[in-house]
Amino acid sequence: MYAFNYHRPATARQAAGLLSKKEDAKLLAGGHTLLPTMKQRLASPAHLVDLAGCADLKGITRKGRTIVIGAMTTHAEVAASAEVREAIPGLAWLASHIGDPHVRHRGTIGGSVANNDPAADYPAACLALGATIVTNTRKIEADAFFTGLYETALEEGEIITRIVFPLASRAAYAKFRNPASRYALVGVFVAKRGPEVRVAVTGAGEGGVFRWAEGEAALRNRFAPKSLDGLKASADGINSDMHADAEYRAHLIGVMAKEAVARATGK
Ligand SMILES: Cc1cc2nc3c(=O)[nH]c(=O)nc-3n(C[C@H](O)[C@H](O)[C@H](O)COP(=O)(O)OP(=O)(O)OC[C@H]3O[C@@H](n4cnc5c(N)ncnc54)[C@H](O)[C@@H]3O)c2cc1C
Repeated sequence: MYAFNYHRPATARQAAGLLSKKEDAKLLAGGHTLLPTMKQRLASPAHLVDLAGCADLKGITRKGRTIVIGAMTTHAEVAASAEVREAIPGLAWLASHIGDPHVRHRGTIGGSVANNDPAADYPAACLALGATIVTNTRKIEADAFFTGLYETALEEGEIITRIVFPLASRAAYAKFRNPASRYALVGVFVAKRGPEVRVAVTGAGEGGVFRWAEGEAALRNRFAPKSLDGLKASADGINSDMHADAEYRAHLIGVMAKEAVARATGK
């Protein structure tokens, strides 16, 4: 590791102040992406602003028909939360299937969403549930937040403070995971709220997480696994790599969507 300056603010406001004053500063959350990147010299910030001491960025609360999760809340905390398990069990299930115990106890929801890895799980939940990503300066709808591979609508120096998930009448996630990393080869989160159905796919898209319009249309008629019978996602714009080609991933989108709907409906 090379030399850098380490800062440990006590609030998100202090963190924002440091980011604006220090040139070439980067936020550190769980460090599960940033530290390996630094070790490989793919990033070399002069200042690290560690959010671990910011108590205002932690915790889970139920507010009316929403669940609000602080950016520095770990995956393990989301998985174990009684509020999340009761209100959006599919979200708790998703968190409990991220990586391994070490990753779940260090990795944070804010870090995951800010990083927008194309195979990460939370972006699919945010998009399907219609979450709002709240930063120190504004609120961004999930539809506008994920803009490409590792790209988000976040501006320089902007800090995610919390994520607001509206409840759905039915919601669940299914993923076919890479057995080595446990990232999603393909993951599908489905959510139904009133007449609205949203199906979000991670792990597959060349541009990162996306909504599967054909799947949504089929499920709008009837929210049941059977509605997806014979429906296959197009392989256009789907990733091919050493783990799976585009055709295989496209096939998995239908399979995972069906499994997620089965979980959501208990069928
Ligand atoms: C072995 C391994 C397996 C994994 N498996 C999975 C998996 O199965 N599924 C999955 O979804 N993920 C997986 N991950 C990723 C992991 O879950 C973390 O979520 C991810 O590394 C980022 O979160 P972090 O808290 O570690 O963020 P960091 O690494 O600390 O930060 C990541 C990026 O986000 C920025 N950032 C952090 N917090 C904020 C904030 N509040 N506001 C704005 N920017 C911020 C940082 O500056 C940095 O650029 C895996 C990671 C590892 C190492």
